Amino acid sequence: MTGETFESFQKKLENIFDLNNIAHLLSQDATQKFYQLSTLLIKVNSETNLTAINDIDDIILKHYADSLLAVSQYEKDASVIDVGCGAGFPSLPLAIVRPDLKITALDSTGKKIDFVKLASRELGLKNVTAVSARAEEFVDIAGKRESFTHATARAVSRLNVLSELTLPFVKVGGSFIALKSKDGDTELSEAITGIATLGGEVKTTEHLNLVSYDGFEAQRTIIVIEKKSSTPKKYPRTYSKISKKPL
Ligand code: SAM
Repeated sequence: MTGETFESFQKKLENIFDLNNIAHLLSQDATQKFYQLSTLLIKVNSETNLTAINDIDDIILKHYADSLLAVSQYEKDASVIDVGCGAGFPSLPLAIVRPDLKITALDSTGKKIDFVKLASRELGLKNVTAVSARAEEFVDIAGKRESFTHATARAVSRLNVLSELTLPFVKVGGSFIALKSKDGDTELSEAITGIATLGGEVKTTEHLNLVSYDGFEAQRTIIVIEKKSSTPKKYPRTYSKISKKPL
């Protein structure tokens, strides 16, 4: 990694995790894995564009800490599908600090999934399965419909579109954990009718701050949507219908 020793990386990681009340997640093994992941991400990103976030300070803050703000919402031993995981966020940080979770990292872009596979192999993460597919098509492949304890997603689309891509994967009694920015409440008001149509009900909305090195706080909204009843089989529709006419 360009000029970053393990010791200096560890200090930054501990500082940011401490500022965001998630320092308890860091063991020596987890810190080592985050260091390996950063090295790999910067290397692969220089060869093929995976993510706009490429600076080590930003990776720690915007990829690792941000991915873990909702870590306590995932039930112990849960199966989780991360819809639109990109280069593996929140999948990879979750897999590092929560080995009990069984994570399916899903994205339609093959090169991003190739990276998640490579990173999982290099870091020895046994709890990640990476799949290259569109969410609305994957849901009816090999019994995936209503088969996960949780769906989760960060930075994929507005909640009214995203709910149709995620809720069909969630078992009745499970939940969709949406990692949203400061516009979360507005997005939720747009999505509320569709969420009910898909069998969901809002359980909690939590407002948090992602705290940076200089104390700057960026607002985040964690929305947990409980699956109350089965999603009708006609959902999800094709992506063009979902995006042109959200429920
Ligand atoms: N979640 C990651 C993060 O927070 O860094 C990636 C966010 S990126 C802005 C959005 C990702 O969603 C892209 O990698 C894109 O390929 C994926 N995506 C969008 N629509 C999708 C769909 N219908 N099925 C699967 N992946 C999708």
